[in-house]
Amino acid sequence: MTISETIDAKFVSLSNLVNRLRAAKHPPSSLLILFPHCIQYSKCPQKITLDLGECKRCGKCKVKNLLELSEKYGVQIAVATGGRLALQKVKSEEIRGVIAVACEKELRIGLMAALPKAIMAVPNLRPHGYCKDTDVTMEEVEKQLLMFLEDQENK
Ligand code: SF4
Repeated sequence: MTISETIDAKFVSLSNLVNRLRAAKHPPSSLLILFPHCIQYSKCPQKITLDLGECKRCGKCKVKNLLELSEKYGVQIAVATGGRLALQKVKSEEIRGVIAVACEKELRIGLMAALPKAIMAVPNLRPHGYCKDTDVTMEEVEKQLLMFLEDQENK
C-alpha cells in the first residue's frame, strides 16, 4: 500500500468512527446505497448506469446483491458514474444517510465533498486492480446500513 493509500484508508476509518458515534436513525426511504460502476461485471452488456432495472440479476457481480439488499430494507440505491449527479443525490435534503462503496481515495474525496452528510463508507475489494471488476463484502454493507436503521428494526 502506498503512503497516500494508507492516508486515505485512515481517513475513511476515522470518518466511519465519527459517523458511528453521531449516527442518528432514519427511515429506510431516506437512506441511500451508493456504489461504483466498476462493480459491474466488465463483460456485462446491461446499461445499468442508465437504469438499475436493466440488471438481469445473473449473479456474475455484486450489483444483484446490492439491489436485493436495497429491496430487503426498502432503501434507495444508485450507481456513481463519476459525474456530479451522484454528489447531488447524496447532498439532497431527502437523503439523511448514505452507505457508500468505493476505493479509499474516492471515498475520501466523496466524504469531504459531501460534508456534513452522514456517510458510512465501505472500501471495495479489488481482486483485478482499480476500476475493473471490483467487489464488495455484502455483510459489511449490511452492517453499515444497520448503523442507520438499528432503531427502525427494533420498532
Ligand atoms: S448481476 Fe449480472 S446482469 Fe446484473 S450487472 Fe452484474 S453481470 Fe450484469
